[in-house]
Parts: sequence; structure tokens; C-alpha cells
Amino acid sequence: MSQSQVLARKWRPKNFSSLIGQDHIIKALTNALEQKRLHHAYLFTGTRGVGKTTIARILAKALNCESGVTSNPCGNCPACIEIDRGNFIDLVELDAASNTQVDNMRELLENALYAPTYARYKIYIIDEVHMLSKSAFNAMLKTLEEPPDHVKFILATTDPQKIPVTVLSRCLQFNLKQIPLTLIAAHLKYVLGQEKITCDETSLQLIARAAQGSMRDALSILDQAIIFGKGKIEESGVHAMLGTVDQVYLYDLLEAIIQKDGTKMLNIADGIEAKSLSFDTALQEMAGLFHNLALAQVVPQTINENLPEYKQIISLSKRLPPEELQLYYQIALHGRADLGLAPDEYAGFTMTLMRMLAFVPENLLENTKASVPPSVGNGEKQNPRTNKKISTISGINSKHTSPAILNNFMVPNTDSCNTNQSDIDWPTLVNQLKLNGMAKMLAQNCEIKTYSTDNLELCLLAEHKHLLEKKYQDKVQIALSEHFGNNIHLKFSVGKITGITPAELDNRDKQTKQQQAITAIETDPVVRELVDSFDAKLINSSIKPINNGGSK
Ligand SMILES: [Zn+2]
Repeated sequence: MSQSQVLARKWRPKNFSSLIGQDHIIKALTNALEQKRLHHAYLFTGTRGVGKTTIARILAKALNCESGVTSNPCGNCPACIEIDRGNFIDLVELDAASNTQVDNMRELLENALYAPTYARYKIYIIDEVHMLSKSAFNAMLKTLEEPPDHVKFILATTDPQKIPVTVLSRCLQFNLKQIPLTLIAAHLKYVLGQEKITCDETSLQLIARAAQGSMRDALSILDQAIIFGKGKIEESGVHAMLGTVDQVYLYDLLEAIIQKDGTKMLNIADGIEAKSLSFDTALQEMAGLFHNLALAQVVPQTINENLPEYKQIISLSKRLPPEELQLYYQIALHGRADLGLAPDEYAGFTMTLMRMLAFVPENLLENTKASVPPSVGNGEKQNPRTNKKISTISGINSKHTSPAILNNFMVPNTDSCNTNQSDIDWPTLVNQLKLNGMAKMLAQNCEIKTYSTDNLELCLLAEHKHLLEKKYQDKVQIALSEHFGNNIHLKFSVGKITGITPAELDNRDKQTKQQQAITAIETDPVVRELVDSFDAKLINSSIKPINNGGSK
């Protein structure tokens, strides 16, 4: 026996009262045993590790305990002890999944006719019974049609649909449920307490979650964690052992969506790709998170306080309106289904995120119109980052804009009366200069006032005069000199801008991209479907173009 099976075996329940998570079955069996309403064949169904064969063995003891048929076998009589040890002569335990045992199955079943050697009942426990051969099923059926009083069949399967109806109809069937996470965690905690091993709550939750409803798996994983941590269980070790990634990125992602921050959202998507995590899993986990958030809104007590993300779930559930959650959930599911159809998974994933950014259910829109977010409004909007009013795309039609700039943005030309403008395209030039940080910001918020061969005078927008520090001026001067290949004498003044600064141009650039993004999303078929089926309305200003080259 491997080390990792120690706890699972040691803590295997030996009576009904210590069984976790199958109360409905225990109650039915207990009543039947106490009222001596016994059946010839019992069938336990359920996924692996939920306790089917454990219940079968306890039932075998209950039927054969020397204290009499009981719901509470003594555990001390020879029958109970031998059954626990697995060498009780009148208990035949078979695993139909193993071929070697199936070969002589028919013969074994024919022996059922003979009375038990020692016990009250001759008991056949057959695990994975659906894998029996046809002839073996026939032999069993023969016994079941005219069952001798001394024979009991206790069958277990993960796949009851493969059992012949003729056999099924003669069995009393019990469907075992997956064990809820909270019960698994509580039991693990109890076991650890008894074993005097310390473990933090988060690790406990991680292990319980990884067990996926199986107590046996939970105990095995717990054993592995103890070995992995050399007797200590720690969160980092459990993550490493389970190969799980903590779900911090999920919460960051949702935060970015709530804040309508496309850049942050994209950065997280890039991070997911960089870590080679699957986008499919990410969408699955997102849908799971939305489900949890919805639960937290409707029945908050179902959210386990020991969950590592408990505080975040509660906080987010209070910030997101239920309608929006439902919509996000749908978008995540749709996105997952469409992942295979997308040009690539990255595109599919980010498109799904963009849909989340772009939508707010219609009724929410009505509610929020009057009050907050800056993104929900018409006409002029506050730019949340700069707190600066940014004009809509039609506002680009400025009198002072040079024709060259206008042409770049395909806005109808108007007459230019800005005589101060040189023929240097300053916005283009600024992008070519080797500048970054504050020096770049300085250059971006200027326009050319005068220009001659070696002399350049820039006018800085008054509201940015804090940028006029010598070191930034010097950097701009050096960059310009490098660009032109001769020493440029640079002079700054502060005042009103008559044309368009590169910074302003950037804003307009963003507006144009925004318009393109809106068009792309509006024509997206899934978006159309969501609009129709959810009564959703596209919030144009919530769409942020995603720019792989970073913000330009
Ligand atoms: Zn007993």
C-alpha cells in the first residue's frame, strides 16, 4: 500500500453514523434495517470516491452482525471484524472492472444457491457491476428471479445505464451524491485535528476543492500534501502540489471589466497567455466566479467563509448589479463555446472580454443615467484618467487644425487660418523623437510657435506648465538635435494653443479607434444576439479599443 492511501484507509467510515454527505441514503437504509424490511438486491450509484463500496460494506455488517440485523453494527463481533478486514467467508467482494475476476463470475453466482457457511446471509458485493458479461448478468438474474432467502446482492456502479433493465428493476436503488465542499473540508479538519497536524484554512479549501466531491480523493490528496510539506501543510506547497494557479488573476480581470479599463484587461489576458494557462479554463473559471457572485447576492450564507476568496466574493457581489452578472455569465458561456471558432484562442478570449466591457443591461442603463459613471452619458465626457473634457469625434472639426492633421483623420477639411504653424508636422515629429516619460509629455503638450533652421520655439499649454522643468527641456532639446543632426536652440513659452498638440491628437486618435471598435462590436453576431435576447444596450463609450502596441 502506498503511503498516500494511509489516511483514506484509516479514516474509512466503519458505520453509518460516521459516513459524511449521504444523509438521505443513510436515513433510508437505517429505517429499512430497523423495520427489517430487507431487499434482495441493493444498487448504489454515484461518481467515484463518494462512498459506494464503503456503504456496501457497512450494509454487509449490518446484515450479518452477530447482535442481529441492525442499523448500527457492533464492530466487535467476529462477523464485523472479519468484514472490516476483508476476509469474511460469506462475503464475496468482486470488482467487475477486473477481468480475472469476471471469468469465474458465472460459477460464483451459481454458488449463491448454497446456504452460507457461517453467517446469516451470503453477500455479494459487486463493484462496477455494469461491466459484467452478459452470461454473468444472466446468472445473476436467475438468482434474482427466485432469490433464496440467504442471498443478498449489493451492487455498485458509476454507470447504471449500462445495467440491463431486467436486473435494475429487481434492485433497490440509491443514488449517492457528490460530497459538498464544505463537508469535505470540515471532515479533513477533523481528521487533521485527530492526527495533530496543522493546516491553514486556505490549504484545506484547496484540497477539498481538488477532491471534486470525493472524500476518498480528499483524504488521499491530504496524505500527499502531508508528505509534500514534510509533515506541514502550507498554501504555497498545496498550490505547487496540485498544479493549481491561485485565482487572483480572475479577480483582477473582473475588476478591470468593472472599471471599463481595456488596457488593464488586455495586460491580464497577456499574462494568462504568458503563463500558458488555458483560455478555456479561464472562461470556465470566470463563469464559476459569476455563479458564486450571483449566489452571494441571492443566498449569501451558501458562500463558505473559509474560501480563500471569500472577502472578494462578498465585496464584488455588492458592487455588481444582478442583471449585469447574469449578462456576464451568458457572455462567458458564449465566449467559451465560440473559442474553437475564433481566429485563435487569444482573439476569442479578448473578444469575449470586450463584450463584457461593452454591455450594460438596458434597465441598469435607465437607473444609472441620472447618476454616475462617467462612461454612461452622451455628448461630452470626462476622461476619467485626465479629468479633462474630451470632445466627441465631431469636435475635431476645429478651425485651427492644420489640413494635414485633418486629412489623417478623414474629417472634412475646413479653412485653416493658423499662420503660426510651420510646415513641420509636430505630432508626427514628437512620435519619432527618442523621448519617454515626463519629457515626452512635455513635448506632447506643446505646439510649434516659430521655427527657423536652428531655432525652435515651442508653446506649452498653460495647464501643463509644471512640465517645464529644465531636465525635461534638455531632454527634448537633445532629442531634437539628434533628430535633425544639428544643434537646435530650443525655447519654450507658455500660453494658449492655437492648433492641436500631439497629446490632443492622441485623444482624438483614441476616439477614432473607439468608433472603429464600436462598429466592430455592433456588427458582431453574438453581440446582436445578446442585444436581442437580453434587452441589452450597447454603451458606446464603454468600448475601449484594444491596442496591442500599447497606448499610442
Ligand atoms: Zn457485529
